[in-house]
Amino acid sequence: MVKKVGIVGAGQMGNGICHVFALADFDVVLSDISQDALDNALQTIEKNMQRQIDKEIISQDQANSALSRIKTTIGLAGFTDVDLAIEAATENEDVKKAIFRELSGILKPDAIMATNTSSISVTRLASVTDRAHKFIGVHFMNPVPVMALVELIRGIATDQETYKTIENIIKTLGKISITSEDFPGFIVNRILMPMINEAAFTLYEGVGTIIDIDKGMELGTNHPMGPLKLADFIGLDTCLAIMQVLYEGISDSKYRPCPLLIKYVEAGWLGRKTGKGFYDYSGDEPVPTR
Ligand code: NAD
Repeated sequence: MVKKVGIVGAGQMGNGICHVFALADFDVVLSDISQDALDNALQTIEKNMQRQIDKEIISQDQANSALSRIKTTIGLAGFTDVDLAIEAATENEDVKKAIFRELSGILKPDAIMATNTSSISVTRLASVTDRAHKFIGVHFMNPVPVMALVELIRGIATDQETYKTIENIIKTLGKISITSEDFPGFIVNRILMPMINEAAFTLYEGVGTIIDIDKGMELGTNHPMGPLKLADFIGLDTCLAIMQVLYEGISDSKYRPCPLLIKYVEAGWLGRKTGKGFYDYSGDEPVPTR
């Protein structure tokens, strides 16, 4: 029975995952290597819960009791009594493997390990742990409190009990799951990221402006957010990392990351989280950067 959940990484996904578990009555310990990230995560959770109170989605009492169930910590020492550990750290295989190696020596033997990776092989991450059968991909969508979908990814060794336990927890969170086999990008990013990358190529080759590319997809195909706006929202570093996983994992040149996307990431223009990406967010309204 999962009662206490540990979350590794308190960035935009980690804080959202923490938010939904705390509201669903789980005790949560949220961990990061940066105290600033933890402080920002708590502020964001409070702000997002206030928004839900204003929209009458939750009550003040629910928010108060959810917030009282969240503890924050630097490092993983506080994970000895969690029943489920969800990793939501930076999309980098070495970083994630180091976290899972460390968790193997800390978690209770029967605790489940999960990764929120957008694209990295669940089987490969599971292989560095002491419990590949109790390891699963649980891919939440951003922003977690708002988005209904969670993609579940079975590694080659994931057992049925682990899969069923997580499938039920996702229902308890009020979310809907789909199941993907463990191939690069899984289902959602296998389809979404090449579109975002193609939007970057469309800009790079001068086919259209940032505004026209986004407006084209919003008004022409009924997407609620154009691909460049969406890329800024996801984080350009994350988008690039996923394209690299697709390119290397499938070995097909059609997944080659756009050089302009690489340049934005090299400049530190990572999207909303750094205040600048395809758009500049420093003013009242986002302004295109090209
Ligand atoms: P982010 O950059 O907002 O946050 C990453 C956090 O991980 C940072 O706070 C960083 O300090 C922390 N971190 C780095 N190394 C760590 C370590 N060794 N131990 C603990 N914490 C560490 O990134 P994000 O957007 O929250 O993405 C996190 C994960 O979720 C990635 O795997 C990403 O692919 C995946 N994901 C992202 C989205 C999205 O839209 N951004 C959607 C679904 C899944």
